[in-house]
Order: sequence, then C-alpha cells, then structure tokens
Amino acid sequence: MRRLSRTPVLAAVAMLATSTLTVSLLAAPAEAGGRKTRVSAALSATATNPGGAVVMSGRIKDKGKQKRRVVLEQKIASGWRTVGKTSSAKDGSYAIAVPTTWFYSSKLRTRVKPTRKLRGKASRAHRLSVVPAYVPGGSPDSWDTLGQSLDRWNPCRTLTYGINTSRATPDPATVSTGIHNTIALVSQATGVRFKFVGETASNPLDKKWKRSDPDIIFGWTTDAETPLDLGPNTAARGGYDRTLRARDARGRLIWEAIDGGVIYDLTDTATMNATEFQQLTLHEVGHVMGLGHVAATDQYMTAGAELYYLPLQYQAGDLNGLSKVGLQAGCTKRVRYRGKVELRRVAPVATTLD
Ligand SMILES: [Zn+2]
Repeated sequence: MRRLSRTPVLAAVAMLATSTLTVSLLAAPAEAGGRKTRVSAALSATATNPGGAVVMSGRIKDKGKQKRRVVLEQKIASGWRTVGKTSSAKDGSYAIAVPTTWFYSSKLRTRVKPTRKLRGKASRAHRLSVVPAYVPGGSPDSWDTLGQSLDRWNPCRTLTYGINTSRATPDPATVSTGIHNTIALVSQATGVRFKFVGETASNPLDKKWKRSDPDIIFGWTTDAETPLDLGPNTAARGGYDRTLRARDARGRLIWEAIDGGVIYDLTDTATMNATEFQQLTLHEVGHVMGLGHVAATDQYMTAGAELYYLPLQYQAGDLNGLSKVGLQAGCTKRVRYRGKVELRRVAPVATTLD
C-alpha cells in the first residue's frame, strides 16, 4: 500500500510552532494592501485538434516595472489547475502555450502571482475545445460504467504501466506497439498521464499485489492456469482488482482504482495481427479505466466481435465515457473510514470476445 498522508498531525505541530505569529500574519495577508494589478487575456482560437498551436496572451497593468510571474489555469470539476507558466515582459505583455494534447472543452484563464508590493489577479476565463481530427462514429450516449458508483482512477495522478512480455503472443514487439498506441489514445481521450515503467515480472489481476508493481499490468496466461475465465469465447479480461474509498469532485463517495490491468489468453492472441491485437486492447483498457459494455456495436466497448471492424480510434460513446472518468471529471480524494483507509477487492469483469 502507498504511504498514508500525515497532514493532520503536521498541521497541528505547525500551528503550535507559529501560534505567536498568527496575529500579525492575519493582520497582513500577502495580497491585502498591495497595489492593484489588472490582467487581460485572449485565446488565439476557441477550438482546435490535438497538437494544435493555441496561445493565451494579454497584458498586465500595474504600477510596477518588474516582470511578473503568470500561470495558465484550466477549470476541471475539482477546481482550477495550473497547466502552464511564464513571466511577463517588462511592458507587461505575456503569452503562454495552451496544452492541446487531449480532448476537452473547458475554461482557461491566466493568473498573475502577487509580489510583495503588487496584488495578484486572475483574468477573465475563456473556453477552448480540443476535438478529434476524425469523426467519431455512433452516439455519444453509447457508454456505460463498469462499477456502480463511477469507480475510476484518480485522473490527477500519473498512472504507471508495465508489460510482462515473457509469454506474450503473437510477439513482444507487436504487443508493445499495440499497448503503447492504446495508452496514447486513452491519454488523449482522458487527459490522464501515463508512464511506461518497462518490463515487469508481475502478472495482472492475480491477487499478488506488490508495492513495486506498476499501477496497470499487461500479461499473458492460459485458461487452465488462471481462476479467471479465459474460455473459448474470451480473448482477454481487463479491469481493476483493488479500490480505495474516495470522494469525487462533488464530494460523492466513490471507489478509486489502485491496481488493474489486462490478462490475455496467449492461445487467442497468438493468431492475431497487429491491428486485431490493438483493437482488443482498446476494448480492455476501456474496462481498466472504468467503462463497461454497451449494446451498440459501433463502439469499442461493445461486448461482441464487431469491434474488429472498427478503425483504430475510440468512437463517440467511448470518448464520452472516457471523458467522464478523466481529468475533466476532476481529481479524486482518498478518504478514511474510522481512521483507516478502506480497501476493497473487486473481481475484474468478464469480456466475451472471439
Ligand atoms: Zn469487455
């Protein structure tokens, strides 16, 4: 398990140590009494595709002549999040590149940091939409959750993933490419950052969680060797198998996924080409992220073999679902129950793919 936060204890200690200073600190907060700052901001575009060059620029007006520190902030469900920073020129002008690596429609603003003499200030907010360069098929409503309470990973964490290629079929290079390509598309759809930590000797979804394991593991086995059903109609299973109590951005209790992965049936993936392997992986990582099956056959989260006819891009329902478990939905916060972190083990869901 990850180390628990000691914040309440530290905060109490800090309060004791600084109690004599409290009055003067309260009487002179950093921003009060400083001279006024004004900041203008404008986006160079209101919509773009991934990788598009969009700039937030404007001018800071204050009575000083010094450069000011400026941050770019993006509104997600849990609040404003810093996504860029720069310093203004001496004439007060500034420009910050806006991240456009993932799909979102959200407000952006710039905020000037306070100095000893000058106040901080936030600009007006402007909306930017980053949309796919392709036309996603089907209905945006064609998505469903895997768990009952919108279980998901904390999208504000960097999630690590590793591959156990020791028994990978059709071959390690093909599966590595398919997995990396899929993770890139999931990151683009969710805004979640992933970090590949390399080869792992561990296996996914086997109830042997080790502290050193990546968050998400990809591995191979056979039906006979696993208690998970990888029978004749099941090529792989994906999901998460440990969760923690957490609250979402609206304060609702949810389960935060902390261990997950995909287990492939090596006899099934042995006959797959690179495209088929990635199609299967796009489906399974949808489960890992918290999406369930849909009746629509034009989405990657369909339960049937129709996904092998889809282009290598998530479709309209898939994308909408992934956005609901992604960064726009806001950070999750782990909570304690009777002083303890509440841990739950869940069975990864079945997939029934040919
Ligand atoms: Zn499935």
